[in-house]
Amino acid sequence: MVELHLHKYFKNRPMRPQTKAIRTRVDQTNEMEHSSPVFLTSSFSFDNAEEMRAAFADETDDNIYSRFSNPSVQEFTDRVCVLEGAEAGFATASGMSAVFGSFMALMKQGDHLLSCNAIFGSTHTVIAKYLPKFGIEHSYVSATATEAEWEAAIRPNTKMIYLETPTNPGLDILDLEMIGKLAKKHKIILNVDNCFATPVAQQPIAYGADLVVHSATKWLDGQGRVLGGVVVGRKDLIKDIYLFCRSTGPALSPFNAWVLSRSMETLEVRMERHAANAHYIAEKLEKHPKLSWLKYPFLKSHPQHAIAVKQMQNGGGIVCFELKGGIEAGRKFLDALDILSLTANLGDTRSIASHPASTTHAKLSEEERQAVNITPGLIRISVGLEHKDDILEDILQALEKC
Ligand SMILES: *Cc1c(COP(=O)(O)O)cnc(C)c1O
Repeated sequence: MVELHLHKYFKNRPMRPQTKAIRTRVDQTNEMEHSSPVFLTSSFSFDNAEEMRAAFADETDDNIYSRFSNPSVQEFTDRVCVLEGAEAGFATASGMSAVFGSFMALMKQGDHLLSCNAIFGSTHTVIAKYLPKFGIEHSYVSATATEAEWEAAIRPNTKMIYLETPTNPGLDILDLEMIGKLAKKHKIILNVDNCFATPVAQQPIAYGADLVVHSATKWLDGQGRVLGGVVVGRKDLIKDIYLFCRSTGPALSPFNAWVLSRSMETLEVRMERHAANAHYIAEKLEKHPKLSWLKYPFLKSHPQHAIAVKQMQNGGGIVCFELKGGIEAGRKFLDALDILSLTANLGDTRSIASHPASTTHAKLSEEERQAVNITPGLIRISVGLEHKDDILEDILQALEKC
């Protein structure tokens, strides 16, 4: 059930990925409904003992139980596969269960995971706190590590390289082509969290990634409604992840899958507008006197601009900047906003502002924050779909007050 299931509707007509991502669907039922129904069922029944035997023996790909597979979940997974250029995929209850499943299914005691240190906080917790319990080693390189530094960090037992690009919240860009080639050369699995860029802006498999993981909770849903995750990539690896997950149970709810699958139909138009709004706001704020710097991948001032334009089709929907006034200015900025939301999510139709130093990273010491590049006045904006000038004006008036 993990392989891409393109609907028979396709016949033999070649279609671009955008069209396929909209047209791929579960088989129509006898009701001939136009929009896909949600298959809210925990199990599936069989006509006779022989059919049931064959399904359990993996001789057919009939659905058995929704912890293993479900048509609504399959539809969502197929749509992500089409956009990422992947052979197969498996969807999970959250981004973290996709990340965890991709680690646990493919690594064993004595293996080493090499990761960039600029990664999502819970991913860091899994790598640094839980993988060691299972005898899986890890080490980190920085987001700006050179090819030589990456290669020097590879050990004989390195099984997987893990990274995010753009990174959260610093928006550093890692060179997928360079790391993809290194992974191939050393026969290491390359696993890329593509949550920030989405497949609309970046397809890591084209650069040699073996696996791509997503928190579907963010831009894929795009409306702040449901949790979800998905891992797509090489068929043989996805098979192992599927077998691990079908036994351990991080299955995506069919209802959430149905919501996410509808969202995939609008992903491209949404992301184009998110990126256009973000690019506009970044340009307008870049020289603002209250900021010591501003980062957006598609601005020439971004330190890795050349890599960003090589591997991304747009700069994404996140802008970050540093307030000269530090931690106090960050708090005042959040308080002064009228339209932007203060919330822990990102990738929503509604613009969101966050100040890591006083919230998500408040428990760390100043030195610990520096080590993960959380500067005192760092603000991350997830740019929404409101009118670009309303977003800009809200940020400008808040900057006046801090
Ligand atoms: C949110 C996030 C995750 C975790 O996803 P959940 O759906 O919250 O479990 C993983 N990676 C990145 C980059 C994220 O932003």
